[in-house]
Amino acid sequence: MRLAAVESRNVTCQEPLPPIFWERALASNVWDADGNRFVDLGAGFGVAGVGHAHPRVVEAIAHQLARLPHAMGDVHPAVTKVKLLEALATRFPGGVSARSVLGSSGSDAVEIALKTALLATGRPGIVAFEGAYHGLTFGALEVTSRAFFRRPFASGLTGRGSFARFGDADDAVRAAREAKVPVGAVIVEPIQGRGGERVPPVGFLSRLRAVCDREGWLLIADEVYTGFGRTGRLFACDHEAVVPDLLCVGKALASGMPVAACIGRASLMDAWPPSRGEALHTQTFLGHPPGAAAALATLAVLEEEKLVERAAELGEYALGRLRAAAGAGVRDVRGRGLLLGIECDSPERAARACTRALERGVIVLSSGDDGRVLSITPPLSIERDVLDGALAILMECLQ
Ligand code: PLP
Repeated sequence: MRLAAVESRNVTCQEPLPPIFWERALASNVWDADGNRFVDLGAGFGVAGVGHAHPRVVEAIAHQLARLPHAMGDVHPAVTKVKLLEALATRFPGGVSARSVLGSSGSDAVEIALKTALLATGRPGIVAFEGAYHGLTFGALEVTSRAFFRRPFASGLTGRGSFARFGDADDAVRAAREAKVPVGAVIVEPIQGRGGERVPPVGFLSRLRAVCDREGWLLIADEVYTGFGRTGRLFACDHEAVVPDLLCVGKALASGMPVAACIGRASLMDAWPPSRGEALHTQTFLGHPPGAAAALATLAVLEEEKLVERAAELGEYALGRLRAAAGAGVRDVRGRGLLLGIECDSPERAARACTRALERGVIVLSSGDDGRVLSITPPLSIERDVLDGALAILMECLQ
C-alpha cells in the first residue's frame, strides 16, 4: 500500500482493514476517495464543532490566506492574532481578566499550562487523574495516564505527574502526598473525552477548586475536547461555575486550522517575564493568520447559530434515545451535551460496531483505556434526522 511505504508504521492503522481516505467534507458529511458518503459522528476528533467546511469559516480562511498567510508571530505579529487574543480573553470563565499564549495543538496548550504553573508556583509536581488524556508531547505525557502511551517512554519521563481517582477531589491530596516532587497544580478534564466520556459526580469540579485553593495549587482545566460548546455550555467548567486558573483549548477553536491556546488569569500569566526580544515560549507558526481568522469566524458562527444551546438540547435528546435503545452488550450510556459515550461489555464489541458502522456509512471511534466506549461527538450543527439515522445504524451494529 502506498501509505505504508512512506509513513512510519506506528501512525495509521491498516490492519485488519485499511482506513477510508477522506476526500472532502461538508457539515456532518464526509466523502471518501471512492465517492462514498459517511455521517461523521466524531466531528473529525471533535474539531468540526460548527460542521466541516462551514462556508463562513472557509471564506474567512480564504480571505486571510490571500492577504497574509504568515506573519512573525512573536516579533511582528498579524493583526488577526490580536483580534483572536481579545476574543479569547472576553470568553474566559467568570469574566476574569485573562491573557493567552497561542499554540498549534492541544498538546501545545498543555505544555504552556505546565510551564506557566512551574513559573508561577516554583513547584514542578502536577496532580492529574486516572484515565486522563492531555496529549503525547513529552511534557503532556507526564500527565497523560494511559500505560500504552507512557510505557515505551517511561525512562524519559521525570515522574512529576501523579494520578488521583477521577471524580474524587480529595484523592488529589493523597496523590500529592505521594508525589516525588512538590505539587504546584492540578490538571483536569471536566469530562474525560478520550478516557471514555467519563462524567464525574456533580460537584467534583467545585470541590477540586476548593481543594486547590486550600492547598495553594493552580487549577488547570483542559478543555481541548470539551471547550466551545461540546458539552452544552461554552466551557464544561461553566456547568459548575468554576473559574480555573488556566484553561487549555484547541480542537474546535478553529474548525480544522491548527490553533490552540492556554488562557490564564492575567495576574497569573504575568509569571512569564516580559519579552525583551526573545520570547521564552514561542513557535514559528504562533498566531498563524489564517488559523486566527478561522477561529474568529468559528466563534461568530457558534454564537450566531446558537450552537452551544443546540448541543445541550440535541445532546439530551440523543442521550434519551440511546438509553431507550440500549440492549444487551451495552453497559452504560452517558455524557453531556454532544459528548456522549456508549460503554460496551467488551472492547471487541465496540471495535466490531465501529467496523460495521463504517461499512454502513457512519464514522464512529472508540475511546476508553481498552477501547470499549463508543464516542458520539458529532458536529454541534448536525441535523436531528441525520443524527437519528446514524444512531439507529450504530445501535444495530452493536447487536
Ligand atoms: N487534551 C485533551 C483533553 C484532548 O482530548 C487532546 C486530544 O485529544 C489533547 C489535549 C491533545 O490535543 P492534540 O491532539 O491537538 O495535541
